[in-house]
Amino acid sequence: MIHNRIANMEEEKSKILIVDDEKVNLNVLDGLLKPYYKTVIAKDGLQALKRLEKGPLPDLILLDIVMPEMDGYEVCRRVKSNLMTRAIPVIFITGQVEERSEAKGFEVGAVDYIFKPFSPLTTLARVKTHVELKKRGDLLERMATLDGLTGIYNRRRFDEFLDYEWERSLRYQHPLSLILMDIDFFKRYNDHFGHAEGDLCLTKVARAVANSLPRSVDVACRYGGEEFACVLPETNAEGALVAAQRILDRCRDLHLPHPQSTAADHVTLSLGTVTLIPNNNHRKKDFVEMADKALYQAKRKGRNQVRQFKEGTDYNG
Ligand code: GH3
Ligand code: MG
Ligand code: MG
Repeated sequence: MIHNRIANMEEEKSKILIVDDEKVNLNVLDGLLKPYYKTVIAKDGLQALKRLEKGPLPDLILLDIVMPEMDGYEVCRRVKSNLMTRAIPVIFITGQVEERSEAKGFEVGAVDYIFKPFSPLTTLARVKTHVELKKRGDLLERMATLDGLTGIYNRRRFDEFLDYEWERSLRYQHPLSLILMDIDFFKRYNDHFGHAEGDLCLTKVARAVANSLPRSVDVACRYGGEEFACVLPETNAEGALVAAQRILDRCRDLHLPHPQSTAADHVTLSLGTVTLIPNNNHRKKDFVEMADKALYQAKRKGRNQVRQFKEGTDYNG
């Protein structure tokens, strides 16, 4: 969701997900951590993964190992192989006291390993250390992947995200959609209102774009100066069109006057969408070019509209 995506520097309680199949353990850990953290509990691995999917994401996971259906190692492996959750530190808290189990815990990506019965004070201290490290990591991550002006993801993050989703779509044969968009007559907007107002307009449009994507897996980025891009995993052509139209509507709802535009009396966007189930003959670079072609057709056809890329269309005519 958008509150995960936009730079949020406000101090708020860090979140901890506690996963244990024993109710007593859950209660004890919850009671210990609640005065200092916002706690969420899950009674097994599957429920934990569901909570992570739904968000908001925790800053740390305290994870039991022996649980029915899916053990803690597997939960940890999945957390660490998902781009969205891999930065969340995992601490195993378990009755498995053998060195082999502990080593395996680190092998699957945990940052720490606590034996039961645990000491409340040292558990709190370890949790505090890892939450603070996570916060520092988040700050660095924000600086590296968020656009300084608008607060949405930058081009670097877009490239990384598209790489990741392209590979996933190729492997699972799911459709992948991309929307590229560009503000109409933005040079005239700057010339008319000045660069500072232009910056403000860019920020408002960027946030409207990001807020138009309700699914937590969809990502909006600033692609270039007054250009934005959205990657929509597991989304077919129809879904991409709906999302693009929603972005256009949200942009209109900002009611940002643009007296020098001939497309409308307010700030508008032109949008191009493309959808593919990638195969090994496709190149990622062509995928972006397809969206770009559709975008330029939207420009040519009068701006303030969405165009879908269709194979066989002559985009030079
Ligand atoms: P079109 O409808 O064809 O897209 O016309 P346009 O004027 O939007 O396109 P053009 O590429 O001619 O101009 C883009 C403008 O966007 C020019 C540039 O100064 C402005 N721009 C790019 N980045 C920024 C920025 O960070 N802040 C401000 N204020 N303006 C920017
Ligand atoms: Mg442009
Ligand atoms: Mg433009």
